[in-house]
Amino acid sequence: MTDYWNAELETKPWPELERWQAAQATAMLPALRRRSRLYARLHANVPGDRVLRSAAELAALPFTVKDDLRAAQDAATDERPFGDNQAAAQPDIVQAISSSGTTGRPLYYALTARDVETIGDAVANVWFTAGIRKDDVVAHLVGLPMVAGGLPYADGFRRIGATLCWLGGFPTERILREMRHLRVTALLATTSFALHLAGQWDAIGRETGIASRLAKVIGGGEPGLGQPELRRRIVAGLGLTHLRETMGLGDVIPSMWGECEAEDGMHFNARGHVMIELIDPETGEQLPWREGATGEVVYTALDREATPVVRYRSRDHATVLAMGCACGRTGPRIRCVGRTDDMLIYKGMNVFPTAIRDLVVARFAGRIEPVLRLWKERRDQVRFDKAIEVDVEAASALDAAARDALAREIEDAVRSQLQVRIAVSVLERGGLPRGVYKNAIAQVRDV
Ligand SMILES: [Zn+2]
Repeated sequence: MTDYWNAELETKPWPELERWQAAQATAMLPALRRRSRLYARLHANVPGDRVLRSAAELAALPFTVKDDLRAAQDAATDERPFGDNQAAAQPDIVQAISSSGTTGRPLYYALTARDVETIGDAVANVWFTAGIRKDDVVAHLVGLPMVAGGLPYADGFRRIGATLCWLGGFPTERILREMRHLRVTALLATTSFALHLAGQWDAIGRETGIASRLAKVIGGGEPGLGQPELRRRIVAGLGLTHLRETMGLGDVIPSMWGECEAEDGMHFNARGHVMIELIDPETGEQLPWREGATGEVVYTALDREATPVVRYRSRDHATVLAMGCACGRTGPRIRCVGRTDDMLIYKGMNVFPTAIRDLVVARFAGRIEPVLRLWKERRDQVRFDKAIEVDVEAASALDAAARDALAREIEDAVRSQLQVRIAVSVLERGGLPRGVYKNAIAQVRDV
């Protein structure tokens, strides 16, 4: 029998849940315009007393994009350190969260005591869906408490009652040894780190003389766990019973989606606090949640006090694998297929680097390692008019002629499947760097 964190919301028929959420949004919106200067401006032309009866009616409101939040932050003052979207008084704010800042200046988000509670509840809901229980000893590897994956993730584990071992920040070798010494049963890690660990775990066991108790991995931070070969490697290398993917957004709630025991796509677990839409990223038009639909996920925070967002464009692209699940949870079950920021344009056609990787890794499983490096000329290069240079790593020793032949085979497969021309170099085993944290799938060519 399935255990739920919040049985009522997780199993409520999806249309009924959306109506309940629309009522929450109706109550939240008028006050939002008074509390947030950003939304006073963005919603200046929206009638203030509209009753939303469904998710579809959210479409009457404008989107919020990252640049709106950036501009709002730039208006920070001594009284309003979080800028124009600071919707709570400074004395009521108990915590600041920072975006990673990998794509520009960091953005800050503020939490009131109630926001800490609601975020903790949503994150715990995800970890619970992903199989974390009170008796788990969890290794938390995010190094910085201030980032979205830091303290908010830790709060989620503590809320379940699991034993939090915050090992993030230690050198990798120490993290691995401590995981054995503390008898860690569960690990939260990026897909890249889980893959890295899978190659090292046995050696650490021999070194410490302590048998592995690790059984559960929650992975995320980058698309990858939709890839069966990657999953197989990680599960086999670590001897896992659970491998669950997760996804969230620092600007909204750092973890909102998680996989159940079916391990076949992520459920939405922040239902009490956030409303979701799927849109066509080109036209902005709302798409119905239905099996097979692909689009960008848009979030509306229903009860956020300090830095709220309404119709916030995540730039995360998802495919709906199914509506509903054998576990009884309702609504869309999704896989993230990539981020707008990672998208490349080859001769006018959009392609995600992860689509190239997933195709190559699946088609050539056993002959190459499940990693791939794509070269850009500049960090901000999006357009490619020549073949995209890609490095892969052979799974076994090959002579130069065999490596060339394999490279041509991979190029042909990608051209016929994705209509994208790539130029492949097959490297020897171990030739590609394994990222401890997030593996940059695209690297900039050093000149
Ligand atoms: Zn399920």
